[in-house]
Amino acid sequence: MAPQKTILVTGASGFIAAHVLTSFLEAGYAVRGTVRSEATAEKVRQSHAKYADRLSFAIVPDMGVPDAFDDAVKGVDGVIHTATPFQIQVEDNERDLLRPAIDGTVNILQSIKKYAPQVNRVVVTSSFASIFDLSKGNRPGYTYTEADWNPATYEEAAKPTTSGGFAYCAAKALAERAAWDFVATEKPNFDLVTLCPPMVYGPNENATADLSKLNTSSADLYQLMAPTNKPTDPLPTNGFWSFVDVRDVALAHLRAYEVPEAGGERFFLCRGNFSYQMMADILREKIPELRDRVPIGKPGSGFGGVELYKPDSSKAQKILGIKFRDLEEPVVDAARSLLELEKKTVAA
Ligand code: NDP
Repeated sequence: MAPQKTILVTGASGFIAAHVLTSFLEAGYAVRGTVRSEATAEKVRQSHAKYADRLSFAIVPDMGVPDAFDDAVKGVDGVIHTATPFQIQVEDNERDLLRPAIDGTVNILQSIKKYAPQVNRVVVTSSFASIFDLSKGNRPGYTYTEADWNPATYEEAAKPTTSGGFAYCAAKALAERAAWDFVATEKPNFDLVTLCPPMVYGPNENATADLSKLNTSSADLYQLMAPTNKPTDPLPTNGFWSFVDVRDVALAHLRAYEVPEAGGERFFLCRGNFSYQMMADILREKIPELRDRVPIGKPGSGFGGVELYKPDSSKAQKILGIKFRDLEEPVVDAARSLLELEKKTVAA
């Protein structure tokens, strides 16, 4: 039998990372997660208690420090870099979004090059934010693929007048570019795969989940079912229009690490476009207990006449072998998990 491989997953406390941990642990790998404190490590240990014998942790309090990952990478066979601040409301775009995203990415690649020559592949969780050109709006008739790049520059993203949303998207694009540049110039032993999901929905299983500070995409869905909502409230307007299920994203990370042809490739992970109206219709139909708190809007009106770009994720479907779930599954499973979290919050 081949010796067990160990995979380092950064940001192990995150919403997506919870499912990434599960996908690698279920596939038989040992996983070392990086977290910022021992208290967080303990929470993740409990949420993945079934795999306690194969799950360990490295504490990396600040990934912005150049040698932050030097110890964490030692002895691992592969690396999945998911850690990034995903927030839209920040005080300082540079300090809170751009620097941690870019420096965290470059720092881990440097540590691997120096201390982990056995690592054969690094998978970076990038984003559709790194593909999408915000200046072009909804771009009806255009088809987005992984050949597209968000052209935002560091300078415009860093300006104090620039929105946090724009800066987050720029940070993802600039961090991903930094990773590709690193591989091109440093020629390390590992190859790189980047994964670009749009809004990621599905069961909220991360050990650190807290209704008062949910991760951005879970909070996005939760706003439609907030206990203070009324059925007659207007539905919010979409900021982002494309989605993918978190379990498909997790499987994509596993396949991105394992499939030889994935090396050196960038993948757009996307099921399609959605609207809050479509989500509200699903929530009201499938979870009757939510009917009093999900705005009705105009049921069945879909995109409400809004014309949008088309997302094309055929490359990921073909090379990574993923069949992306339809909208109903992530929406229903996310809502059920958030209702569970409400119960735990009340009980606590
Ligand atoms: P979460 O906010 O749930 O998780 C983010 C993770 O990154 C947490 O583990 C967090 O640690 C860690 N992190 C954040 N900032 C730092 C920092 N400065 N130093 C060290 N660790 C840090 O986000 P998601 O799970 O939603 O996102 C995970 C990845 O997926 C990110 O790279 C994000 O950009 C990307 N993504 C997410 C999408 C989505 O819809 N959810 C869509 C597209 C891409 P801690 O718990 O200590 O705060």
